[in-house]
Amino acid sequence: MKYSELAKYLVEAPLYQPKQLEVAFGKTTELVEHQGFLVEEESGIPVPEEVERYCTTCRSATNWRWDGLPGSAEVIELGLKWIPYRCRNCGKESFSVWIRVWLSEGKVFVEKVGQYPKLGIALPADFEEALGASRGLYIKGMTSRHAGYGIGALAYFRRIIDDTIADILGVLEAAMVEADANADAIDTVRRARAGKVFDEKVKLAAEAIPPNLKPGGMNPFTDLYDLYSIGLHGLSDEECCEIVDAMDEAMKYIYTELKNRTEGAARYKDAAMKIHQTVAKLRSRK
Ligand SMILES: [Zn+2]
Repeated sequence: MKYSELAKYLVEAPLYQPKQLEVAFGKTTELVEHQGFLVEEESGIPVPEEVERYCTTCRSATNWRWDGLPGSAEVIELGLKWIPYRCRNCGKESFSVWIRVWLSEGKVFVEKVGQYPKLGIALPADFEEALGASRGLYIKGMTSRHAGYGIGALAYFRRIIDDTIADILGVLEAAMVEADANADAIDTVRRARAGKVFDEKVKLAAEAIPPNLKPGGMNPFTDLYDLYSIGLHGLSDEECCEIVDAMDEAMKYIYTELKNRTEGAARYKDAAMKIHQTVAKLRSRK
């Protein structure tokens, strides 16, 4: 794990999954200028100053700032360490994480061993609605993931995709119609939806998606297909947790971003029609 991934690890990782942190350990001294003099200053691995996390008071993802006593614990040291954060937006909610840090053969390892409040299951309203009858499977899958049982979690997630693939492709078809995509491509997605073989359905749909529906050139359907195709065989709990997290992101993108964008575009089309009618009516009065 790179140092830049540490903040996300603190907030989202399941407990008891040690990771090697790619940093050189040990306090080093460097010369820095202080009031016109060069002085020696100690530097170490800094605690991430800010993390991003869902806030129950703000009801959205916000930035949380390190909330310890200044001078007490800004640097990661060996042993067990408590790292507190507070929501910058409301200042009311706090979040604590405990990590264990040790050296092994000159490498730094960190392990999250505690978190308060405990890892929750974020179910944005649109996403919950889209999951429908699969909501229970999602909660079971996420509960397994939070306990570090990635293999179990992946089995639940594969089942969710099996059960909701028709809806997922429905979202894609609606988005493509709204975006005036190529008629052949829309037809491909329709055929994919009607198909029987799961792998073929998702693969066909992934290939038909137009460039303007790919966020930053990424294709959430190809990602979902690739993740699904990896299968459970021979993977560790930790690797399965990573697949589950990626599947979760792809599904949430499709069910919330893509769906809202389509509905937003449709609403604007209606509104624009009325605006044009009003303008035409006013102009004809002159
Ligand atoms: Zn807040």
